[in-house]
Amino acid sequence: MNIFIFDSVKNIKISMDYINWKSFNLTSLKEKLNQSGKNITIISHRNPDGDAIGSLLGLYGILTKLNHRVSMIVPNDFPSFLKWLPEAKEILVFSKDKDKSADILHNAELIFALDFNDLSRVREFEELINGNKSYKVFIDHHPEPGKVADLMISETKVSSASELVYLFLHEMELDHLIDKNIATCLFTGIMTDTGCFSFNSSNPETYYAVADLLKYKIDKNLIYSEVYDNFSYNRMRLMGYCLNQKMQYFPEFRTAIISLTAAELKEFNYTVGDSEGFVNLPLSVEDVIFSALFIENKDKIRVSFRSKGKFPVNKISAEHFNGGGHINASGGEAFDTLENTVNKLIQLLPVYKDELHNN
Ligand code: 5GP
Ligand code: MN
Repeated sequence: MNIFIFDSVKNIKISMDYINWKSFNLTSLKEKLNQSGKNITIISHRNPDGDAIGSLLGLYGILTKLNHRVSMIVPNDFPSFLKWLPEAKEILVFSKDKDKSADILHNAELIFALDFNDLSRVREFEELINGNKSYKVFIDHHPEPGKVADLMISETKVSSASELVYLFLHEMELDHLIDKNIATCLFTGIMTDTGCFSFNSSNPETYYAVADLLKYKIDKNLIYSEVYDNFSYNRMRLMGYCLNQKMQYFPEFRTAIISLTAAELKEFNYTVGDSEGFVNLPLSVEDVIFSALFIENKDKIRVSFRSKGKFPVNKISAEHFNGGGHINASGGEAFDTLENTVNKLIQLLPVYKDELHNN
């Protein structure tokens, strides 16, 4: 059985169907990684999720074992249900530690950017990336990669950036450096980006990766529990409030919308990560295929969309809400009042009526 899984992983490595590694020129990167002592910075996107943090920490573990000087930077803070991950305390949060982060970015010789392909998702330090002479490698699974990197390893077929990092490690022949902690981080990224294997996870290769990661004796049940059973009492009450009081249902458009004002967040002692997963809840309603969550922040409205089937929420985010993402999971932001932003979407629904019904 072990040999079967191992062989399958090796097959992925040479499979032209899953990842066409020949289309990426890894030569230069291999040379750089072979010289130890490089200043390497790994970055990921704003509002980091399990995949952002999992892929970041997984790659960090490998690169430190190669004796590089490795730093990790994200634009803003990440939820406490990810802080237990091995080495998570090493992640610098740009908004909290601007000078140190800027200094590190300035001195980076090699930058890995994980789980995004659009520099606006690191707007906080976009200029520092643009003006940076380092060699830039993106490892990402979002559609429509921009031309922002020296090396863009982009594949939308994979479940997550974490799965792609896992495959990348095999391709680079660095997989022998994977250990239990690294496997824990990569598994967490795959688990969270697939909603515990309920979406983005129909390729057998994803499960070969997971099967292989389990061989490192990671505690799968504990990981699940740390991520999903670790919410505050207030978050559970806020969730109940959303479903009971705040969900607007539009059966004629197979849509549900939840919005939360800053005052409501305050009432429930909201902290970062508390609304994680709320946007998925309305999709459990029979016949709802489009769900939207709007959250009022200090200076903007944070937008999250989810859908089922072919309804492309990334298009709606990109065209109307300054964002983007995947076909079934996207996000964005709006710079208007919460009420106007919600109304904007409500007024758009008739435009998409046919698409919502022919799904
Ligand atoms: P979430 O709703 O969990 O914040 O985001 C869902 C997905 O939408 C993310 O995984 C990411 O692909 C995408 N996304 C979220 N926010 C933004 C944004 O502001 N800009 C872009 N381009 N994509 C976003
Ligand atoms: Mn991802």
